[in-house]
Amino acid sequence: PSRTHLNLTLGCRQYSIEYKPIRSVLVANRGEIAVRVFRACNELGIKSVAIYSKEDRAHIHRLKADESYLVGEGLPPVAAYLNIPEIIKICKDHGIDAVHPGYGFLSERSDFAQAVIDAGLTFIGPHPNVVQQMGDKVAAREAAIAAGVPIVPGTDGPVSTKEEAVEFCAKHGLPVIFKAAYGGGGRGMRVVRKMEEVEENFQRAHSEAESAFGNGALFIEKFIERPRHIEVQLLGDKAGNVVHLYERDCSVQRRHQKVVEMAPAPHLDLKIRDAMTSMAVKLAKHVGYENAGTVEFLCDASGNFYFIEVNARLQVEHTVTEEITGVDLVQSQIRVAEGITLPELGITQEKIQPSGFAIQCRVTTEDPAKNFQPDTGRIEVFRSGEGMGIRLDGASGFTGAIISPYYDSLLVKVIAHSKDLPSACAKMERALREFRVRGVKTNIPFLVNVLGNQKFINGSVDTYFIDENPQLFK
Ligand code: ADP
Repeated sequence: PSRTHLNLTLGCRQYSIEYKPIRSVLVANRGEIAVRVFRACNELGIKSVAIYSKEDRAHIHRLKADESYLVGEGLPPVAAYLNIPEIIKICKDHGIDAVHPGYGFLSERSDFAQAVIDAGLTFIGPHPNVVQQMGDKVAAREAAIAAGVPIVPGTDGPVSTKEEAVEFCAKHGLPVIFKAAYGGGGRGMRVVRKMEEVEENFQRAHSEAESAFGNGALFIEKFIERPRHIEVQLLGDKAGNVVHLYERDCSVQRRHQKVVEMAPAPHLDLKIRDAMTSMAVKLAKHVGYENAGTVEFLCDASGNFYFIEVNARLQVEHTVTEEITGVDLVQSQIRVAEGITLPELGITQEKIQPSGFAIQCRVTTEDPAKNFQPDTGRIEVFRSGEGMGIRLDGASGFTGAIISPYYDSLLVKVIAHSKDLPSACAKMERALREFRVRGVKTNIPFLVNVLGNQKFINGSVDTYFIDENPQLFK
């Protein structure tokens, strides 16, 4: 499109959308997700730009981009990717138009989104105010309440003293879960089942949150027994259109972190699916959500569902949604960031029709026999599972790759797409068994056990699955 401005009237509101073409994208990230975004740029004819720390100077994500720049020299490996002023300077010095944050690192930092915009660049993600609101568990819950979305009973605000914690537990009953109010990634969480354990666990969770996130404030929720984790993928544009791309089931978790994800959620009652997806869209419209995002819910065995949080970014498991809907979420993110509307992209609710079943396994360089301790070193042999219906999203799976101890242990995401859950499981298990990785240990033996488990194949697992099945570790 050649327009620079588009005036729209939607209902009684007037919108004026600026159309700002994106010719180059810097990915403020590394590894697998950087490569995923570069591929999307490449297909759209957009120049891709990488940043890399000195530890990553030989990493493949650097070589997959059209240009790459060293960042954070003299800083520790993770801090290099968090250096906002330097990332902005690289963009300015090299005439880059837009920034994609990926997941992790700066992706949920509203100050980063704001700095990108203040520099006159396009941020490929939601508005900084929305990033901030959704990143704060308490503010996000308030938004959910205001939009009429059911939430888990919990504290109205962050709790900083054990007396407040005891009071909440006495009033709402046990079990409860303590969460870092300003944290994520399953860290700093504790489940408490006995009154006499409240105080001690509060202290521990508080200091864990303090050291991991720099703020010890906790948030207390009623613990839902045997929940399934079901989340709704959303896409919004600058004109206020929001669509959902159905749901994913991410119940297979270890220490509250996702290991295997799938779409759609197996055996989900259609009425519940409709209610969840429309609630998610309502919440997004309520906060003025644009770009890609996810609303996460917990569902109990009686069919009640409760909002837990919004991830205002692309997620690791976005791939399974792409497989069943045929929508490229990363390309859509770039297009809506330019100011193109969803209908112009051919993305309307009626046109999004899920087809088949997709599963993603996160293959990591972790040793299941040693309590998933990360392994490092040189990959001496690497052969991947491939073939019909298998997609591989990765960056360090090749012979000669050096797996360093500095970053996340994700090696490759294996995605299987087939007509239904059992055939997708068979395809995934077959592909996993084809892998040959020598030089570093991987979690593949564990994943093969999951894929061969009858409960998993039947689609009847909840978040207790891994804990309750120690034979999966053998
Ligand atoms: P994070 O931001 O760290 O990812 P979430 O709030 O998304 O944390 O929760 C991660 C996982 O922890 C959920 O998928 C679920 O398995 C578990 N969990 C979180 N809150 C509850 C709860 N109230 N009851 C039961 N399980 C919970």
